[in-house]
Amino acid sequence: MSSEANTPVLPNCIRLPLPEDELLEVTAKAKDYAIMHGAAMRSKTAFSPDSLNFAPFVLVPSSFPRKEFEKAVALQPIINRLMHNVAHDEEFITTTLAETIKVDEFTANLFNIYRKVLAHGFTQKISLGMLRSDLMLESGCPELSPRAQRPAAGEDLDLDCVAVDADMAVNAVGTAAAGTGRKVVAAAAEASTEQEEEQLKQKVANTIQSAYCCWKQVEINTIASGFGHLGPASKTIQRFVLSELGHADKLHNMPNNNALAGLCDGMVKAWDIYGKPKAVILFIIEDVSYNICDQRFHEFYIRETYPHIKVLRRTLTDVHKEGKLGQSKELLLGNLEVAVIYFRAGYEPGHYHSQAEWDARYLMETSLAIKCPSIHYHLAGTKKVQQALAQPAVLERFINDPDEIKAVGKIFTGLYSLDDNEAGNATYEMALRTPEKFVLKPQREGGGNNVYGVDIPDALKRMSRVERSAWILMDLIHPPLTKGYMVRPGGDMPPQIVDMVSELGIFGVVIGDAEHIVHNYQAGHMLRTKLSTANEGGVAAGLGALDSPYLIDSDDEQN
Ligand code: ADP
Ligand code: MG
Repeated sequence: MSSEANTPVLPNCIRLPLPEDELLEVTAKAKDYAIMHGAAMRSKTAFSPDSLNFAPFVLVPSSFPRKEFEKAVALQPIINRLMHNVAHDEEFITTTLAETIKVDEFTANLFNIYRKVLAHGFTQKISLGMLRSDLMLESGCPELSPRAQRPAAGEDLDLDCVAVDADMAVNAVGTAAAGTGRKVVAAAAEASTEQEEEQLKQKVANTIQSAYCCWKQVEINTIASGFGHLGPASKTIQRFVLSELGHADKLHNMPNNNALAGLCDGMVKAWDIYGKPKAVILFIIEDVSYNICDQRFHEFYIRETYPHIKVLRRTLTDVHKEGKLGQSKELLLGNLEVAVIYFRAGYEPGHYHSQAEWDARYLMETSLAIKCPSIHYHLAGTKKVQQALAQPAVLERFINDPDEIKAVGKIFTGLYSLDDNEAGNATYEMALRTPEKFVLKPQREGGGNNVYGVDIPDALKRMSRVERSAWILMDLIHPPLTKGYMVRPGGDMPPQIVDMVSELGIFGVVIGDAEHIVHNYQAGHMLRTKLSTANEGGVAAGLGALDSPYLIDSDDEQN
């Protein structure tokens, strides 16, 4: 995915580039700081269970508009409730996935578990949802703010479109705003007198085009929503770096992030509801956990904060070997009863090596343990369900308040069905005509599965009409750029300034059954940033990096 030439650029929180000696020193220090504060991962290339590498990170926090951040935070409890209601709507889940499960074996296997559980009745009516709603700023959404309309390539910028205050604009020096803005910004760098600088600041502020005007949901995760630890840990590193660089005065623009506590407390609330003091919390894990810090810190937080609650880690294969149901269908591992199951694996076909792992999933699903997610929550998090929710009038089925319906409706970008029917065929034709506008997604989680832009026609043509129903088509979101240093294990020293784009994830916790929600809250956030040329930005996968938001105020507030 390459950015268009006129993609807007968000201003930096501090002036870049840094002098080379300062950059070298602070980067080396930040790497050690990251490892020593658990912003780390196991190496995929030189794996050892005995060592960690620091996780790739962005040296200073990336800017994010305060208003949009606050909107996303405020919306999360509504999204939690929406997803909870969707998960409990049997008819909606069944009709929405009907075509998909005919051709997608993985989703069909999950759906089979759902069907069997429905037939026998849910042993445990309470679900624990630990969700993460992922979003990107959309730099070109004229329907919300005509001021943000982007000029066509080669056209002059609209001087009315001002995103930033003058100081920030000058901080964008060296990071270069788009198009015409670039020349003005460069001139600001050379301004010799204070008066000149002041005038130029003003000019820059009037020139940089609006880099954002809304955000759109990329996806909603209902299983294994990661970065509960790495989200807050990213802030810890960048707070340290900003202080080292003499910018402690800016730290107040980095919002608090209690994701780890928020998520772990959610598990403990579910444990409380289960109500047996000796019962344990079970983490379902992959055979090898590269992202180990983002699981162990959850475990350690629970053990340190609630020492009476034991945490176990088991693979699906282990559960198949050791697990059984007791007289009241309680899940037993040896002689330990499981109160809560937290799935950090089980979201991709590779986690199920054989029927044994599917049997283990079914065993857990039929047990009395409270699952995160229960099977219906897992299905509610599929891309197909997200696509169905974005259709007109569908939200009314799940949300009563018209203002809330409007607010949630706005976060969806275009999402299109590829089912084997008239609408699906129209989507197919549209994708062949203008593939560069879209991303094609299967029912998978964990990154690396989507098809982008010009690759879409070939991918679609290889599928039969029926096979297409396993996929959905989505409008490509165009986030504004930021410029900064990305620090990676084995990467260049000193790091180079690169063009990046960010994806914000907002965590939510929701606990309840079909009739009642007993807990519903927003639980912190995470920011992942990738090279602007990369399609996907998985941190462990290689192109993404830990980041955290530096909140900036928009022109609307300034004025
Ligand atoms: P997964 O479940 O594999 O994480 P996502 O839907 O989150 O699937 O897509 C993976 C990545 O692809 C995202 O993190 C984002 O970087 C990119 N991406 C997905 N959808 C879009 C979109 N509509 N526009 C731009 N980038 C997208
Ligand atoms: Mg994702």
